[in-house]
Amino acid sequence: MTAPAPPLAMLAELTHRCPLQCPYCSNPRELERASNEMDTAKWLDILEQATDLGILQVHFSGGEPTVRKDLVVLVEKAAQLGLYSNLITAGVLLDQAAVRRLFDAGLDHVQLSFQDSEAGSADLIGGFKDGHRRKLEVARWIRAADLPLTINAPLHRRNLSHLDAIIEMAVELGAERFEAAHVQYYGWALRNRGALMPTRAQLEAATVTVEAARARLKGVLVIDYVVPDYYARRPKACMGGWARQFLNVTPVGKVLPCHAAESITGLDFDRVTERPLADIWQDSEALRRFRGTDWMPEPCRSCDRREIDWGGCRCQAFALTGDAAATDPACEKSPEHLAMFSLAESESAQPPPPFVYRRIGAKA
Ligand code: SF4
Ligand code: SF4
Repeated sequence: MTAPAPPLAMLAELTHRCPLQCPYCSNPRELERASNEMDTAKWLDILEQATDLGILQVHFSGGEPTVRKDLVVLVEKAAQLGLYSNLITAGVLLDQAAVRRLFDAGLDHVQLSFQDSEAGSADLIGGFKDGHRRKLEVARWIRAADLPLTINAPLHRRNLSHLDAIIEMAVELGAERFEAAHVQYYGWALRNRGALMPTRAQLEAATVTVEAARARLKGVLVIDYVVPDYYARRPKACMGGWARQFLNVTPVGKVLPCHAAESITGLDFDRVTERPLADIWQDSEALRRFRGTDWMPEPCRSCDRREIDWGGCRCQAFALTGDAAATDPACEKSPEHLAMFSLAESESAQPPPPFVYRRIGAKA
């Protein structure tokens, strides 16, 4: 067996704590409590191990990473190690001095999330009062500190009609990049799928809006666009393939191939508190399980796209078929594809149910 190439990037999920309660949050339904989080010394060690392994980028995430009092120390360490660092934040806990401290510590980039362009709707979606106004302020402080800014707005049926205004907001705030990603249905978003699933007509209108904005804003704003799998014909190359380019470390040290992988039951993810990161990357059973193409069933096994999309998303295959080794139902060659598409059509035609907010102990 040849050793896998090193991952390019690590998502460091410092915590699951977050003042917001987004109903599409990518954190697992079972959130880790603060008392179980790894301490500063362990995260500093993980950053060193990541660098030794050949990782080039670290994305500090959560939950909300700014709840961690040691964030500046971790950013400083990443800079000393020569890692490119990105902060993925909802922003509401930052003040101008904190933004400045992060810049001085060597932070390279900020990705700030918005829920909508309108304060009332944004605060309702995020379940946090006055959050939108604070984010607008934070975006200005980020740009004033000369930090490159990406704005990210998860898209769904409750905010899609504002897409044009959200893009304009990103331009006004001085973002260089805008991520228009339709919600992906795992974890909390799967629980809230009926409340979030757009109609096909909404999706088509959004695609027209994005194409027009891309043409209008060429050279001003780069727009990344991710369509919802339920209306796709081919799956996305999820994470560039399972455990090929990316790893995710959870607040308690579990090493995953993506942030949603814990939704697959029956896989035992090794912890960096118990085994070196390089060992886990190269040899952990859970990471080897779907790496490459050997695990693939038909129709993927003989498909000429198998090293392009790597069979799609294992978490989605598990969520919709109960079998993580099945072909992603987003692929039209999957026997489950039509059922997935019909499900999207029928759920999006119903009035949206209320959100189940992301909270520890929220009812199933
Ligand atoms: S998606 Fe919302 S609730 Fe989840 S971590 Fe981000 S801001 Fe917090
Ligand atoms: S059959 Fe498998 S490899 Fe081929 S396009 Fe579909 S998901 Fe991708």
